[in-house]
Amino acid sequence: MTIDAARQAVASGTTKATALAASFYETIAKDDPTIHAWLALSKERAEKQAARIDAMVAKGEALPPLAGVPIGIKDVLTMQGAPATAGSKILEGYRPPYDATTVARLDAAGAVLLGKLNCDEFAMGSSNENSAYGPVRNPRALDRVPGGSSGGSAAAVAAGMAVATLGTDTGGSIRQPASFCGVVGLLPTYGRVSRYGLIAFASSLDRVGPFTTTVRDAAILLNVMAGHDPLDATSSPLPVPDYTAGLNQPVKGLRVGVPKEYFAEGLDGEVRASIEKTLDKLRAAGCTLHNVSLPHTQYAIPAYYVLATAEASSNLARFDGVRYGYRSPQSDSLSTMYRRTRDGGFGAEVKRRILLGTYVLSAGYYDAYYRKAQQVRTLLTRDYLQAFNQVDVLVTPTAPTPAFKLGEKTDDPLAMYLADIYTVTANLAGICGISVPCGNSSSGLPIGAQVLGKHFDEATLLRVANAIE
Ligand code: GLN
Repeated sequence: MTIDAARQAVASGTTKATALAASFYETIAKDDPTIHAWLALSKERAEKQAARIDAMVAKGEALPPLAGVPIGIKDVLTMQGAPATAGSKILEGYRPPYDATTVARLDAAGAVLLGKLNCDEFAMGSSNENSAYGPVRNPRALDRVPGGSSGGSAAAVAAGMAVATLGTDTGGSIRQPASFCGVVGLLPTYGRVSRYGLIAFASSLDRVGPFTTTVRDAAILLNVMAGHDPLDATSSPLPVPDYTAGLNQPVKGLRVGVPKEYFAEGLDGEVRASIEKTLDKLRAAGCTLHNVSLPHTQYAIPAYYVLATAEASSNLARFDGVRYGYRSPQSDSLSTMYRRTRDGGFGAEVKRRILLGTYVLSAGYYDAYYRKAQQVRTLLTRDYLQAFNQVDVLVTPTAPTPAFKLGEKTDDPLAMYLADIYTVTANLAGICGISVPCGNSSSGLPIGAQVLGKHFDEATLLRVANAIE
C-alpha cells in the first residue's frame, strides 16, 4: 500500500485510521514471528493518533500529509516513552523522554507510529545479524538476510507490515537493505534531515531516511522530514523544495555518469546485467550516458572503517552503566561496574569497533591512520565533485550481490565490510543517494540500482529514480 492510497482511504472514509492501524498490527502478529522485524510495538500511541485523525475526518477538517499512514521507526531513533535499544543489550530498559525530530515531524504530519524496528547493534553491520535481539529474515527469501543495519525497516516494508519506515545510513544501511528486500531506500544529503534523537554511531556520516514501496512515497516523506532543526547544529538552513513536484518531469537530456570503478572485480554477473538494463532504459528515455572515473574508490572501505570506528569509539563512551539502560549487577566498585557493564552490554562487533577506533585515535597512531583517512575522505569527495562537473547523477549497483544467506559472512568481518563497497563513499562525501528496485536474480532475489546525486539535489535524484521505477 502506498502513502497516497492509505491517506486517500482514510480521507474518503473507505477505512478508519484506527481500523487501518489494527489491520497492520494483525499482519504483524501473523507474520512477524517469522520475520522478526519489530522489537517493540507502540499500540497506545498509534491508537491515540489514529483516533485523532478519525475525529478530524468526521469533522471534515483539512488533513495533514501523512494522515493515518502507518509507519515504523528504526530502533536507533527515539520515540518518547517507547523502548530505544539500538539493537543493543546495553540499552535494555531505556525509555527516552523525547521524540527524535524526524519522529516528531512524522507525528505532526499525522502518521500513525506503529513501533520500533530491529537493526544491527548501534547500526554496525550489513546483515542485521549483529542485533542483540536476534536476526531479521528477508521476506523475499526466508533463508537470506534482509541486509543491514536497517534490516527490520527494510523487511517491514517488503512484508507489508508498514506503509513506510525510517532507517539510518552511516555507510549504506538504508540503501543496501532496500536493495536486498526489493524496496526503495533514500539517503538524504548530510544536513538535509535532522539527526536530533538519533543514537549516534558516527556523527559525521550518520543520516536518517525513509524506506518506501515507491519513489513518490520517498519524496513525500522527505518533504515532511527535511529542513533546518535548531536542535541539530549540522542541519542545513537551505529551503526545502516540494520533492514530489518534479518527479514526473521527463529525464530527457539529463547526463548520467557511469563510474568504471563500480563495475570492476567482485560484481555479481546478474547484478551487472540488471544495472546495464537500467542504463539502457535511461538512454531510451533520452538521458545521455557518460563514462566517468572516481579514482580513489579503492580507498573508500579502509577510510570508512577508520573514521567510522574512531567516531564510534568516542560516541559509545557514554554507555557506562550510569546514565542509561543496563548495569552489570556484579560489581563491587565503580571501575568494575564500568568494565562489567560494557563487557556484558556490548556485542562482539561493537567491541571490535571500539578497540579499532580507540587504536586509530591513540597518540602514536593518529597521524598514520585517522589523519590519513581524513585526507582520503577529502580526495573521495573531490572525485565526486569532479564527476558532477560533467554529469547530473551517477548510476551504479547498490550492492555487489543480491541478499546472502544467514550465517554466510558472520565469521568473516572483512567479507561483511565489503558488502558496503558501493555505498560508503556517498556518506564520506556527504552527497545524496537512493536505491531503487531494478530487477531480480534468476532465483527471484531483488536487485537494486543506486542513483547518487549532488549535495542537496535530491530533486534530480528522485526524478531519475522515478524514471527507473
Ligand atoms: N555496514 C556498514 C557498517 O557496518 C554501514 C552501517 C550503516 O550504514 N549504519 O558500518
